[in-house]
Amino acid sequence: MEDKNVMEKIISLCKRRGFIFQGSEIYGGLAGIYDYGPRGVELLNNIKRAWWSANVYEKDNFYGLDAGMFKNPRVWEASGHTSGFSDPLAECKKCNARIRVDKVLDAVGVSADEKMGEEQINELFDAHRADIACPKCGAHDFSRVRKFNLLVKSNLGDFTSEGNEPVYLPGEACQGIYLDYKNVVDSMQPKIPFGIAQIGKAFRNEISPRNFLFRTREMEQADTQLFIRPNENKEAYERIKNERLEWYVSLGIKRENLRFKQHENLVFYAKDAWDIEYNFPWGFDEIEGIHDRTDYDLTQHMKFSGVDLNYFDSETNEKYIPWILETSAGMGRILMAVMTDAYHEDEMAGETRVVLKLSPKIAPVKAMVAPLLKNKPELVAKAREVRKELQKVHPAIAWDDNGNIGKRYRRQDEIGTPFCITIDFDTLGEKPELKDTVTLRHRDSGEQERLTIAEVAERIKEAIQ
Ligand code: ATP
Repeated sequence: MEDKNVMEKIISLCKRRGFIFQGSEIYGGLAGIYDYGPRGVELLNNIKRAWWSANVYEKDNFYGLDAGMFKNPRVWEASGHTSGFSDPLAECKKCNARIRVDKVLDAVGVSADEKMGEEQINELFDAHRADIACPKCGAHDFSRVRKFNLLVKSNLGDFTSEGNEPVYLPGEACQGIYLDYKNVVDSMQPKIPFGIAQIGKAFRNEISPRNFLFRTREMEQADTQLFIRPNENKEAYERIKNERLEWYVSLGIKRENLRFKQHENLVFYAKDAWDIEYNFPWGFDEIEGIHDRTDYDLTQHMKFSGVDLNYFDSETNEKYIPWILETSAGMGRILMAVMTDAYHEDEMAGETRVVLKLSPKIAPVKAMVAPLLKNKPELVAKAREVRKELQKVHPAIAWDDNGNIGKRYRRQDEIGTPFCITIDFDTLGEKPELKDTVTLRHRDSGEQERLTIAEVAERIKEAIQ
């Protein structure tokens, strides 16, 4: 959508219609934290279910996991997060805004390597200071750059006693998979190549949370880690990249709004890294990372834990540390991509309407049932019966008897409900030939058709599969 204000419109719709709320809003909020409202949680859960289905049930040799969030503090040393998980930060001397130096450099076409130490990044920043303006006040006067660790610290147990070290909230959810890799191998005896999938929370002390759900401090990551033989990565990597892009298309996202982007600067252990980007209102930006992590993670954990994490390959009679191909997607970013793609304004019956053209598979409400008039008990009773019948197909069938029928349709359009069903006197048999038929109204076209209740149930079933 061309409209520059589309982002504001989506944010406003999210609040107005119960998708997303600012976290702790009555206290003035907390930067980078959002809550999913009644419609948002349904949409989120539907996306998660679609992801789980594609990455666990529909795959051979993939196993699900849900690891605890707190981990032994050694984990984050082994993974390199306590020393290296940082972003370069500078402050505007005029308005005190904090900027992420790698991102502002990127915006002027200069790429900063994640491996750069403070000295190097300062040199690079100094060389381009003249081109970089504060995004808040436009000034060109910044502090020195410092590396800012993104791990969120917490405490467990008696943290007042000396020697009790802090624990960390997960900086990335995937560490849980590496820690349980041996347990999965021992309990499930998978043959390589095999995968472990998890949707887990992650926390990052982001310097400047922004763009609604795009850069938050608390997030949910859906990760798969494919364990493969060393160096056997190329074919699997291409296949995974394509599978993951197709999955977004299967969610209803337009293909032309998706693209791949290869990383120019790799983290030190990675062999290759690609992003899937979505065309957000501010331009293409990352929704998922697909990384060749080599044997780095398991080797590190083997070193730090002292536990043998080799895999015995019964086909080749060899022992080795598997290599890992990772896919990691942020649920909030996916949800935003889905909302952005679905948001439309069009003309219907001489009025402008807002409609979310969500795929019925993930729409928070599958259908709305309404009696034509709410003060006619016989219509209400029949409509209740129809709703119950349709709930056998899917439980998320809404009831709305408030206001005139046109208003009810508009409300459902705004939350992306694919079907509206109206029960009238003909349903009750006023015209005998129409007994037990209802009006089915389609969200995208506004078209209406007269169908039996069984036919409507079939339509819904087909659409949500
Ligand atoms: P970025 O460069 O945008 O900070 P990243 O490359 O650090 O992201 P990864 O560590 O690869 O991101 O995380 C995998 C996925 O997790 C990302 O593709 C994104 O969808 C999601 N993600 C990462 N950071 C955030 C965040 N602060 N808020 C919301 N989602 C995030």
